[in-house]
Parts: sequence; structure tokens; C-alpha cells
Amino acid sequence: MATHQVKNLAVLTSGGDAPGMNSAVRAVVRTALHRGLEVYAIYEGYQGMVDGGDNIRKMVWDSVGGILHRGGTVIGSARCAEFRTREGRRKAAYNLVTHGINALVVIGGDGSLTGANLFRQEWPELLAELVEQDKITPEMAQDHAQLAIAGLVGSIDNDMFGTDMTIGADTALHRITEAIDAISSTASSHQRAFVVEVMGRHCGYLALMSAIATGADWFLIPESPPDVEDWEASMVDVLRAGRQAGNRDSIVIVAEGAQDRHGTPITTDRVKTVIEEGLGEETRITILGHVQRGGAPSAFDRWHTTLLGHAAVDEILSGPPDREPQLIGIRENRVASSPLMDCVAKTHAIADLIAAQDYEQAMEMRGGSFKESLRTARTLMRALPHRPEPGQKRLRLAVMNCGAPAQGMNTAVRAAVRLGTDKGHIILGVSNGIEGLIRGEIQEMDWMSVAGWATRGGSELGTNRTEPTKADLYAMARHLEEYEVQGLLMIGGWAGYQSTYQMLLERRNYPAFSIPMICLPAAIDNNLPGSELSVGSDTALNNIMEAVDKIKQYAVASHRCHVVEVMGRDCGYLALMSGLATGAERVYMHEEGITLADLQNDVELLKEGFRQGKRLALIIRNENANEAYTTDVICSIFGEEGRDLFDVRWAVLGHIQQGGDPTPFDRIQATRLAARCVDFLIEEAGKPEPAAVFIGLQAGKVQFGNLEDLPRLVDAKAQRPKRQYWLELQPVAKTMALPGPMSRSNP
Ligand code: ADP
Repeated sequence: MATHQVKNLAVLTSGGDAPGMNSAVRAVVRTALHRGLEVYAIYEGYQGMVDGGDNIRKMVWDSVGGILHRGGTVIGSARCAEFRTREGRRKAAYNLVTHGINALVVIGGDGSLTGANLFRQEWPELLAELVEQDKITPEMAQDHAQLAIAGLVGSIDNDMFGTDMTIGADTALHRITEAIDAISSTASSHQRAFVVEVMGRHCGYLALMSAIATGADWFLIPESPPDVEDWEASMVDVLRAGRQAGNRDSIVIVAEGAQDRHGTPITTDRVKTVIEEGLGEETRITILGHVQRGGAPSAFDRWHTTLLGHAAVDEILSGPPDREPQLIGIRENRVASSPLMDCVAKTHAIADLIAAQDYEQAMEMRGGSFKESLRTARTLMRALPHRPEPGQKRLRLAVMNCGAPAQGMNTAVRAAVRLGTDKGHIILGVSNGIEGLIRGEIQEMDWMSVAGWATRGGSELGTNRTEPTKADLYAMARHLEEYEVQGLLMIGGWAGYQSTYQMLLERRNYPAFSIPMICLPAAIDNNLPGSELSVGSDTALNNIMEAVDKIKQYAVASHRCHVVEVMGRDCGYLALMSGLATGAERVYMHEEGITLADLQNDVELLKEGFRQGKRLALIIRNENANEAYTTDVICSIFGEEGRDLFDVRWAVLGHIQQGGDPTPFDRIQATRLAARCVDFLIEEAGKPEPAAVFIGLQAGKVQFGNLEDLPRLVDAKAQRPKRQYWLELQPVAKTMALPGPMSRSNP
């Protein structure tokens, strides 16, 4: 079969709007232009396609400039009853054919994608009918014989099979956690209970994940109703015990579709009454509603949607012609495509299972990490740990932070302390990293000692970059012995990994180091081996993005080139990903270096761009991109060369990047990884040759690596892993930034 000849391509957003749709539209438009296609945006979803006229607009490079940071969808969305009729779809087909369009990227929920699939199936018949009605010529019909489609899922609920994250879900989690963090502070001032309703009619993702991220006291979701008949009494017991243990507030998160085991909805009013009657406590309800849909997209919802939009165009252009339509999503931390209608069918199947009260099967289909998160969340929200079993061997496990502060360290410590004590063990906290271990700053941590840590930035235990000298090892071993430590969890960055490795090497000299040891990656630079993502890097990325949003906003008034220097030492992760998330024209990073020829080339591109009407350019430079071409030097060169056309300003973001509270994603990953670390230590403790490992996320899954292999996996001089998967994303960043030569455009 001949390849499908794509003439012109169109993109539309449909159904409920979701933050991140704009960056997907931008990526579709710019990739299509790069591939030499004519590209159209269809405004107001299917309604615009049916109505035609001004709703179908030709896009140029600049049409999608300056939209990355905007919430919602700038090309509009609508529900359209007419598109559900054959007559409506015939009109839509007419409008596409007359614009020469025979390829369509649809960004919407399962309804919109079902509509797209039906439209594609009917397409040949619709064209035949249009020929019959003399609306189009037979040649036109022949020229557009097939309609190619690709679907992206826009939905804040994260309720679609076939993608681990839907467009908008991460941003919705940001809105929810911001709101609940704010509610917690007022609730604890007055010792109140709050019932917070979040979206999710069929899917408890937002409720479950926000419960983990905010350290809520109880949550109710559709796919896992309370497993006891009298859930009201269990909930009240837990909240009461929490208060007695010292909690100053109680937060209960209820998903819209929450229900009991018999399928009876559990409303926020019902929960409020139960708490008021059971605890005699003033209880307030907050329904977050459309706030969850709104506002600026998160960094993840900008960079991952950019990858999706880019992949959707390539799927249409180079996917096998007879392949059924694909849904382009994220699976295992990579862009992946799956048969569209299969995903829709499975999504409906889960909703049907919930309606039929077959919760086991529904949970099965939600996947392994959902179930794991649920188990962890259930334990963490207990008011107090289970008592140790009589006669149980109680292990003494130590936890510490090492390296530069990374947001999410506290969240991980909290999870480790609570999950460890809940299993009957004693958790010891080492203060101030390796220095604290050298000085013997170790104390027992109980359940309530980590109250409120889930949401707090920085490191409450204290952390620093100190690595031990040979002489220090003796003191460290002595203190581990003195406190009878039987397992060590190191949550931190490069210094932590190196220090733990040192201890492993010295096992023969110091038997105290012959305990299970595990490193949990927490570093904003994302420069650790064995994990594609480290805790803290998502927060740093969002910090950079927010700062750049502000810089762009004020710089847009003048002809200006902004050079923004970001952290990362020799690792370009933050630079490249923030470049993707902010729409930078150019990213300089250590992995690639900078040459004089690069700078000269970039100056010429900038000049050409500003000559053609560009008002703003954004360059991101990783702090160690090149020793000679510092941010200062680059600015001088650009300023001098571009004098008549634009001026240059620079910003070194510095420690802003390390600050603030952790993002929901960092909190969730910290919790998930810490849970697995505790299980590992318990399993290994007491073995004659206990393992020393690092944990990480690879291809979306939790994996363990041998600490012995550390030297083999890293470039020690540059302090980064030898393999960095995200370097593969560079071409996408380049496609988004430059329309051939860097011209006209605003980022
Ligand atoms: P979502 O895409 O967010 O699930 P809807 O289910 O409301 O939102 O669908 C959005 C639009 O997609 C509908 O208003 C309609 O125009 C179109 N659509 C949905 N389902 C179908 C269908 N089965 N056939 C044709 N069009 C559909």
C-alpha cells in the first residue's frame, strides 16, 4: 500500500480544556511547519470544524508564539452536538477538504477521540456523499481519499488507558496541593477539620496523589471504597487518634465520584456530618471545582506535551499507512503510541467495572503503581503506627540526607520514618549528613516527629556536601556501632552516593559498614546514576520556569535577548528541560559545550530574527556550559554584535532554584521510593553479606542498581551519569525553537 499522502494538517482541542493543550498545539504546528506541511488550527473544537469559515485558520510559526505559559486552550474548545450527527460530520468533512486537509491531530478526552475515530471511518463515505451532492469534485475526493488522525489525551483527571499521564493532570495536582497546603495552614491555626472535594468522577488519581502529596488524614476514591461496612466509624477513629497524637488539623480528601462498597455516593456533606457528629469538631467543606482546571501549566505539562505534539505529527507522517489510529501518550517515561480505540474501550471498561462494583478488577486495570500508591497512602494516613508484633525483632534503621538540599528530602524522610515504624522497627535520624554521622548526631524519630514534613521544602534533618576522609570513616563506623544501626537509608545527591560507596569499600576494615545500605536519588541537578529522575529536579524545573515566565513577561515590551543561567553544574538536564518548558531559542550545556563558531552562528540568527520583527529571545545557559564563554562573556558578545537591533540582559537564577516547597511530583516520587527503600532494608538486614544499592526510576519503574557499579556508571569528573536518556530530547527542543533560521518568532 502506498504511504498516505498527507496534504495539509489540522489540529484542534475538544471537550474539557486542560492546561498544557497550548504547548501541544504549538508543538504540532511547529513540527508540521518544519516538515514542510501547511498547517491549520481549528478553533472551537468540532463546532469550528462543522461551522468552518474563520474557525479554520492557517498557522504560521508566530501564530503559536507566546502561548506556552497560558492555561486552557487558546484555540478554544466546545462540546458539539452537531458533530454527533452524520450531517454535522459531512459539513466538517467538506470544510476540511476545501482547505486541502486530510490529516488531523485531535487533543481531547475519550469522547473527542471516539468522535475522531468515527469521523475517520466514515470519511470515504462522507466524501462520496459530498460528490453526489455536487459539493466537491470527484478529483477532490480522490486527492483526499483517506483521513489520517492521531489523538492526544487532554484531561485533568488522568483517567485514560494508554498513557501514564494525561495532559493537564500534573497541573491539576499543582493546583490541588497549593490549595490544600493553604487550607492546612488555616485549619491548623483553628484546629479545624476540612473536607476537600477534588475532581475525578470515575478516577481517584487526583484524590489519591494529592492525599500522598499533602499528607492528608483520610481520602475517599471511586475505585477503592472503604473496605469496611462502617467506614464512618473507622474514619472518625483515625481522625480522633490523630488529634490525640498532636495533629492540629484534619484534612479529608474526597473524589467527586467517591462511593461506598454498595455504590452509594459519599458526598462531602455526608463526610462533614460524620466528622461533626463523631468528633464534635467544627468542619468546613471546600469544593475546589474549576480552580483545578485553571492557571498556568506546570513544567511537566509544558515539556511532555511538546514531545507528544511533536510525536503526533511524525506518527501521521511516518506511521505505517494501514495502521489503525494511534493515541500518543507517555508510558514508562517515554513517548509511546497505542491503538486509539483499544485505549478508549479499556477506559470505558474501567468505568463499567466501578459501576458494577467490581473494584478488584478496576484496580487491576489501573495498574501496579496505582495499587502500590494506594497501599502506601493508606499506611501513611494512619494516625499512629501499628504496634510491633509480640516477639518481633525490631530493627534499628538510620536515615540521613546528604548533598545539596533538594525539595522532597523531607517528604522521603517522613515516609521512611512512618512506614518503618509502622512495620515495628526503630528509625534513627542522622542530622547534618556525613558531618552529623562523624559527630554522632543521631536520635530516634517517632511517628509524630515528622508531622507536617510531607509538604515542607529544604532538609529538616540538615544536609551538606561533605564527603568523608579516610580518618572520618572510623568515627562514622563507631557511631553506627554505638547506635546499633542495622541498615542505612541515604537520601541525597552526589556526595551521598560517594560517601555510601566509601563505606561499602571499607567494609573489610569496619564491620559496622556491613549493613544493608541504600541511596535514594535526591538532587535538583538530576545527575545521579540508576535513575532517570531524581527527587527535587521537578521542583527546580518549575522554579526556573516560573522565574522565566516573569522575565519574559516584562521583556516582551522591548527588543531584548535574555540570557538565563541555570544550575546543574556539569549536567544539562535543568537547562534542556527548562528550555523545552519555556520555549528557549537556544540551550547551552556542558555536554555539548560552546564554541566561538556556535556563538557567531547564534548571533547571526538572533540578528536576523530581530530584523524580521522578533521582540524577544530567550537563551538558557547551564552554569558550567563552558569555562571561557561565561554568561557575562556571552552577553557582551551578543550585546556588542546586536547593538542596533536588540539589547541583552542576563539573569542568574541561583538559589531560587533550590527553594520553595516540593512539587506534587517530587513529593509522590519521594514517598514511592522511600517506601521501597524501607522494604529493601528490612529484607536485607541480618543477611551475612547485605547488599548496598541505589534505587531509581527507570523507564517509569522502580529499579535497584548495585552500588559497587557506581564508578562504572558515572563520569566522575563531570559528576554525572554516563548515560543520560534525556539528551535524546535535544532535537525536539531545536525543532520548537528555530523555524529553519531563527527568524521572526517569539518563543
Ligand atoms: P471529552 O472529549 O472531554 O470526553 P465529550 O465527551 O463531551 O468530551 O466530547 C467532546 C465532543 O466530541 C462532543 O461534544 C462531540 O462533538 C464529540 N464526540 C464525543 N463523542 C462522540 C461520538 N461518539 N461521536 C461523534 N462525536 C463525538
